[in-house]
Amino acid sequence: MSDKKKLELYIHIPFCERKCAYCDFLSMPATLGVQRQYVEKLIDEIIGESAGVRDYEVTSIFMGGGTPSILPGEYVLGVLQAAGDYFNVRKDAEITIEINPGTLDEHKLKCYREGGVNRISLGLQSADDWELRVLGRIHTYDDFLKSYQQVRLAGFANVNVDLMSALPGQTLNSWEKTLKKVLMLRPEHISAYSLIIEEGTPFYERYGKGEKTFPPLPDEDTEREMYHVTRTMMEDSGYHRYEISNYSRPGLECRHNLGYWTGVDYLGLGLGASSCVSGFRFKKESNLRTYIEKAGQEDFPANLYREIHKLDQKDRMEEFMFLGLRLTEGVSGAEFLDRFGQNMWNVYGSVIEDMEKKELLRVEHPRVFLTERGMDLSNYVMSHFLLD
Ligand code: SF4
Repeated sequence: MSDKKKLELYIHIPFCERKCAYCDFLSMPATLGVQRQYVEKLIDEIIGESAGVRDYEVTSIFMGGGTPSILPGEYVLGVLQAAGDYFNVRKDAEITIEINPGTLDEHKLKCYREGGVNRISLGLQSADDWELRVLGRIHTYDDFLKSYQQVRLAGFANVNVDLMSALPGQTLNSWEKTLKKVLMLRPEHISAYSLIIEEGTPFYERYGKGEKTFPPLPDEDTEREMYHVTRTMMEDSGYHRYEISNYSRPGLECRHNLGYWTGVDYLGLGLGASSCVSGFRFKKESNLRTYIEKAGQEDFPANLYREIHKLDQKDRMEEFMFLGLRLTEGVSGAEFLDRFGQNMWNVYGSVIEDMEKKELLRVEHPRVFLTERGMDLSNYVMSHFLLD
């Protein structure tokens, strides 16, 4: 085993064909010329950043967005080759790219393979075309099926499908149909999140003010039922839940996300990307024009850093609990002691006891987990782990 510290890379591609109605991610449409310029600067950033993390080894790379698959295949290949050439990427690193149906072709898949991609994440959200239209997605379910088939034919053996419940107009029945269709395809991994109405999106204008609007959002009880049906259907099909919203076939959890939830350092590359490295949290410049301008300057890439925050012991303990409790295996008191030199029960004993009484947490020494009810109310539970 290598004694190098572990590092995960997140590479942000901020381009999409058009904006979905619920999306608050940093993404926008752009011409091919702008995409090319961005990719050139991104490669410069990769080269510049690699110098600061020589004593780390990269265990995973996640290229997300936006829609990375909107880029010509050669651009993606160039970025991945730069990452491979300049960082110490482990041979067995998990390398994921996000793909949106309707943006893929065989040549792109060939480039991904050449760039070392070994995991594909496909954004489907729903198998119902009407729901997809309401969301403002650019694709139909058939487009997804075509992409899924292309990915399999290209030999990719580790595929995630992203789904979303609690959509406007969605019924329990239509959600079950979506799950059934996707489970029949047997992807290795499924992420199933509930729609969140984010400020600044068209959906917020429509639904964020509590007025009656068509199509309506499912009520709270239906939403909860969707959540429970998800777990049952997944488990009946051989998928295990390892995080609140993530399911996989045994041994095929997303290593990149697991690393993030268990506190592995991560370096974000590209527009607006977040990082947490060597006890510092920071973000990159999030304005595209400024990002491109800064790339030519002498202090690049340090001039991209924003919101730099040095984590203290309290921040790190809170994060350990917030992230670790998302996992079905929970957090370990032994690991807490190992990391922070303090007994977890001395710091959080009264909160854990209180949450255990409310049947939101379960304790099996030395581990603490969310119960099924705790998973339903995870935000409420987590809010009690903030330290004064
Ligand atoms: S494809 Fe994803 S990133 Fe792009 S607009 Fe839609 S939700 Fe946002």
